[in-house]
Amino acid sequence: MAERTLSGVGVTPLSGVGTVVWYRPDADLADPPAAEDVDATTELARFDDARTEAEAELKTERARTAERVGEEEAAVFDAHVQFLNDPQITDGVTDAIEDGLPAEHAVEQTFSGFVEQFENMGGRMGERADDLRDIRDRLLRLLSDGERVDLSSLPKGSVVLAERLTPSDTAQLDPTRVAGFVTVTGGRTSHAAIFARSLALPAVVGVGEGLQSVDDGTEVVVDGEGDRLVVEPDEETKTAAAAEADVHVRSGDVETADGVGIEVAANVGTLADLESAVDRGADGIGLFRTEFLFLDRESPPDEDEQYEAYVEALESFYHDRVVVRTLDVGGDKPVPYLDLPDEENPFLGERGIRRSLGPDSALFETQIRALLRAAGSADGTRLSVMLPLVATLDELFDARETFVSVSDDLESEGVAHEMPEFGIMIETPAAAFMADKFAPHVDFFSIGTNDLAQYVMAAERGNERVSDLGDYRQPAVLRAIDATVSAAEGHDCWVGMCGEMAGDPALTELLVGLGIDELSMSPVTIPQVKEAVTKTDTESAEAFAAHVLDADTKDEVVRRLADDDSPAQEN
Ligand code: PEP
Ligand code: MG
Repeated sequence: MAERTLSGVGVTPLSGVGTVVWYRPDADLADPPAAEDVDATTELARFDDARTEAEAELKTERARTAERVGEEEAAVFDAHVQFLNDPQITDGVTDAIEDGLPAEHAVEQTFSGFVEQFENMGGRMGERADDLRDIRDRLLRLLSDGERVDLSSLPKGSVVLAERLTPSDTAQLDPTRVAGFVTVTGGRTSHAAIFARSLALPAVVGVGEGLQSVDDGTEVVVDGEGDRLVVEPDEETKTAAAAEADVHVRSGDVETADGVGIEVAANVGTLADLESAVDRGADGIGLFRTEFLFLDRESPPDEDEQYEAYVEALESFYHDRVVVRTLDVGGDKPVPYLDLPDEENPFLGERGIRRSLGPDSALFETQIRALLRAAGSADGTRLSVMLPLVATLDELFDARETFVSVSDDLESEGVAHEMPEFGIMIETPAAAFMADKFAPHVDFFSIGTNDLAQYVMAAERGNERVSDLGDYRQPAVLRAIDATVSAAEGHDCWVGMCGEMAGDPALTELLVGLGIDELSMSPVTIPQVKEAVTKTDTESAEAFAAHVLDADTKDEVVRRLADDDSPAQEN
């Protein structure tokens, strides 16, 4: 039989060959009995027991996820515990039981109401609907004494197909047994997608209802790079997928075909990520998101704890550059003990450097003390520090002043320290427009395309309804990048990129052609990007970049990227 293809959104550029195992966790509830046959006291006690058990399960899963995937991803389970104990939800369930529903029907009714409300809100709130579904299904399973399909012990070579995968489902997947997963719903920024990247799993999401036509036991290829699922693949497709799965990890520096060195570094959020950065052949750390040190705890880490974490990163990449970003909270990154304000538009509010120079200035100073001490901790370490969400030169100057005064304090205390290399992230249109003014005052720029795309396009990151607009392949985003690189020319200021765009191997030639010196990404795609660098010739990449930059629309950009023909033929 000839192979057939279903299109979706590939969330890792990885391929896997395997056999379909459908995961269908939802069991339909039978109709409830008549209200007079329901004993409310018994049902309330069942609900309470299920909640207690759910909380215990969530804590176990949290710990496992923190270890296997990362602290930032594990934080999703804290949100689940909060939902589980949210008085609006528990009161809703209690009221429904008191009105005569058995516990499972009361849970189903109350949670489904909230799911619908959140879905209607769209955006980030819409994404919370998945969390609510996850908790609802967990409670329903516990109430029915149901066994969960054990996703952690599937037969080797399984490809999991599902309507959707919740964070708890995804965290159970064992990358040594599972060849990939494919879902009916979901987008590039869904929890399942983020987990897939951390676990280095081939994954395609958002395939749509057509996925239901693929039966259990069918042989498939999950082609994350090609954004597709191939059903009953022919030998050629399988061989190509297997070859891709066997990607070659290069541990040394890479050069383009014509000998230009491009640094391919890793984005890390946890100490576990450091390990995979080393395993995937990173040349250094291009973005150390320090938020993880501050999440899931009652109070901020002190100077010594931070110092230890920075030194551990420097030791993992001795002689290589380690770029640590100062605390970037606010926006979509809440930290309970910081008492962040309730803002209508948190992405346009007090986040990143705005908080460090404002309400979190004491924390900022502590972090700088730890960073300057780490920078001076051993010869041969190369610490760089960058500031998130900078929009004005004043912010840069104020932050730098704080670095200088902290350095003076350490000096007078006789504490060993050093001034690190100093840079800013280019994440706001303001910073991109003013890049020529910033360039003389910094050692480097690191372009954060996740935020840059959302602010250039006025399209919230993570909001699926505007994901096409917020795509980094929009010509306006490419122009902001190009303007930034051009502004740095002639200054002693290198330019890196640490947003998701940097990790897309299909864009490596374009980025090299635009003049980016360093690409930093989630460790999973490092080998593919290194491979793409070695195949790039800078001169033709520059012509290619000019050709892509000249496109009028995103679709045209996508066509020009895919159809990597010589620009000369078009002109
Ligand atoms: C970015 O905005 O591109 C970035 C790398 O920062 P974060 O995703 O942590 O906001
Ligand atoms: Mg950002």
